[in-house]
Amino acid sequence: MLSEKTRFGLDETAIPEQWYNIIPDLKSPLAPPLAPDGGPLDPGQLAAIFPMECIKQEMSPERYIDIPGAVIDVYKTYRPSPLLRAKQLEKDLGLPAGVRIYYKYEGVSPAGSHKPNTAIPQAYYNKQEGITKISTETGAGQWGSALAIAGALFGIDIEVFMVKVSFEQKPYRRILMETYGATVHASPTNLTDSGRRVLGLDPDSTGSLGIAISEAVEVAASRPDTNYALGSVLNHVCLHQTIIGQEAIAQMELAADEPDVVIGCVGGGSNFSGLAFPYYRRKLDGKSSARLVGVEPKACPTLTAGEYRYDLGDEAGMTPQLLMYTLGHDFVPAGIHAGGLRFHGDSPLVSQLLHDGGMEAVAVDQTACFAAAVQFARTEGILPAPESSHAIRAAIDEALAAQAAGEDRVILFGLSGHGNFDLAAYAQYMSGDLKDFDYAAGVVLGGK
Ligand SMILES: *Cc1c(COP(=O)(O)O)cnc(C)c1O
Repeated sequence: MLSEKTRFGLDETAIPEQWYNIIPDLKSPLAPPLAPDGGPLDPGQLAAIFPMECIKQEMSPERYIDIPGAVIDVYKTYRPSPLLRAKQLEKDLGLPAGVRIYYKYEGVSPAGSHKPNTAIPQAYYNKQEGITKISTETGAGQWGSALAIAGALFGIDIEVFMVKVSFEQKPYRRILMETYGATVHASPTNLTDSGRRVLGLDPDSTGSLGIAISEAVEVAASRPDTNYALGSVLNHVCLHQTIIGQEAIAQMELAADEPDVVIGCVGGGSNFSGLAFPYYRRKLDGKSSARLVGVEPKACPTLTAGEYRYDLGDEAGMTPQLLMYTLGHDFVPAGIHAGGLRFHGDSPLVSQLLHDGGMEAVAVDQTACFAAAVQFARTEGILPAPESSHAIRAAIDEALAAQAAGEDRVILFGLSGHGNFDLAAYAQYMSGDLKDFDYAAGVVLGGK
């Protein structure tokens, strides 16, 4: 029987002891990364910037990978994250009993998003391998804050290249990172060759994740004591996030309900992977027939309008080439508030899942997302991150479509983070100044 409860809790003993690796379950073998120039990749190039354990996980054929005890101990401070039924939202939408909405809330972590789920193991593995400093990029500041916390916990210095548009829009995220002890720069900077090159082409550049990644990788590659950490896209990052979906499956069992559709917003693909990949496994086990839906902004529609091909992960060509959906590594999307969704490419695992027909993707406008976010805040009480609002928009649209068709539908979406540092974006929305941008509003560096 369906539970009348709202909140489906688990205690810390229910934190999964292994991550789920989707690689052995994909329909086709994983396409290997290539060198920046498109030739074969020299493993030494990866070893110069990543810990060996993450490189191993990147290509691992093992379906389940043990989570180190020291990592589980930190997970225990904020996990399992809650799964809730959105009863007040359902009521506000006037949904029939057969259409139900659940959400898995990652905003309870100290950074306010899902990102610590991978920042913690990455900092741990770097520490184990003798690294004293990690350089990284951040968009909205969520990843930078997560890594800053993990760095503080494991005693590693963190240097963050923050996309300039977010650095200016979100001073509080910068202050948060600095409070945890990190050093933060507005990217593009004059500190790296990559940054200087972009400023030469466009002195007013608002930056992009692709540019900030170039800068952070350049710093890591040039110093032996420094590694680089990425907060999304790569296989080991998606792997670390799979605790979300494993917990959600157990919590939905407590709710005595099974989702017909599982939804997550997609920037580089990690929170979507975290929630959806364990459901993909559940489908292979014949226990679920859920549709898996990724949601992206119309201003940066990688999965819905990009090409499936090898491309660089960054602007300057410091990173390997990955087979993924991409808008081109020199594409800089319009400055929408969902900074974490402004990446030109996507996770190779998510891309391959889409290419193989294992998931769907939709693109939505930012004003429609903010409308959904405000409705959610006023009914469920949580102020969503602008990124997460994309998943809320799609969840509401699914619910209304089911209602219109007279169908039952159980919807589970990932609420990847809270928006308590995104109040300037909400102010702009409420004053009616927020605009929609499509793909064409982005610019291609160098004016090609
Ligand atoms: C970074 C971020 C995203 C986008 O990144 P993914 O790797 O696609 O999950 C989404 N939501 C929040 C709250 C974020 O911080």
